Amino acid sequence: MSLQDRLTELRDQGLADIKSADVLNKVNQIKVDLLGKKGPITEVLRGMRDLTPEERPKVGAYANEIRDHLQNAIDHRRSELEEAAVNAQLAAEKLDVTLPGRTVPQGQPHVITQIITELEDLFIGMGYEIEDGDEVEEDYYNFERLNLPKDHPARDMQDTFYITKEVLLRTQTSADQPRALESHDFSKGPLKVLTPGRVYRRDTDDATHSHQFHQIEGLVVDKHITMADLKGTLTLVANTLFGDQFDVRLRPSYFPFTEPSVEADVTCFNCNGKGCAVCKQTGWIEVLGAGMVHPRVLEMSGIDPEVYGGFAFGLGPDRFAMLKYGVDDIRNFYLNDVRFLSQFYKKG
Ligand SMILES: [Zn+2]
Repeated sequence: MSLQDRLTELRDQGLADIKSADVLNKVNQIKVDLLGKKGPITEVLRGMRDLTPEERPKVGAYANEIRDHLQNAIDHRRSELEEAAVNAQLAAEKLDVTLPGRTVPQGQPHVITQIITELEDLFIGMGYEIEDGDEVEEDYYNFERLNLPKDHPARDMQDTFYITKEVLLRTQTSADQPRALESHDFSKGPLKVLTPGRVYRRDTDDATHSHQFHQIEGLVVDKHITMADLKGTLTLVANTLFGDQFDVRLRPSYFPFTEPSVEADVTCFNCNGKGCAVCKQTGWIEVLGAGMVHPRVLEMSGIDPEVYGGFAFGLGPDRFAMLKYGVDDIRNFYLNDVRFLSQFYKKG
């Protein structure tokens, strides 16, 4: 094979290799292999010493032509691949405006707080004042002023966290009521207070008991207050929490600070009163305790029970939330697990 034919063969093979190289590194390697000092073209040029003086310049010129041709092909392929790499990067980093946005997680009030706020709004609308009270309370206000003297057996119904003999964690938000009674000026109108807050009892924690839970209590004292006022108020509470179609029924009960005392049942929201597992087939669900304020409680606050009377009621927002949302373990409300709590977030 003549040197020209060999050079032509190297050119054709080289061009084919360059064309098929798909990454820059391969192109660079082809350049080293083909045009380098140990490459086949250099090898061909070395063989020129065997040629005649007439042939030498012709072959030399052809060899240079081929070297330039290959060098151009390599440069061209390189810029093609570089451009493709830049385009690929641009495509990868392109902003896709059709992608859904990333939401910024936003918290909401705890479900118990939601229920308390809902009831506070209802009662503020009816002219009640909200009393927060203290969670650390005197035995005197928590028990004695509510007609529960030191030896009263009903104290056993509320296992209590005592701090000293006379100071305790309040077992009921009713403790705020004697304070409200003794400070109210009846010449300015009736007393209407709502006392929401945390209370504490030394219960063994289980699915329906927690040593800490919430109460909302209401107290109204004025002249001419009757049980009809109480029932009307409780019906409004039930309608607000569960819906307008629900009825309230009162059953006799006992609390030391009310006389008479009642338990209030509301129509089962689950079966509309037909009877189901939630209401134990009765059609009614017990939701709160209430009654007419005991004359002794009024007397201890210096109020004449012959002139003034009133009603009081107490309910548990935790229990409401369990009933309303079908939660079977009260402790879920206090574990602070966002996966549980976010179920009760309001939409929007
Ligand atoms: Zn039912």
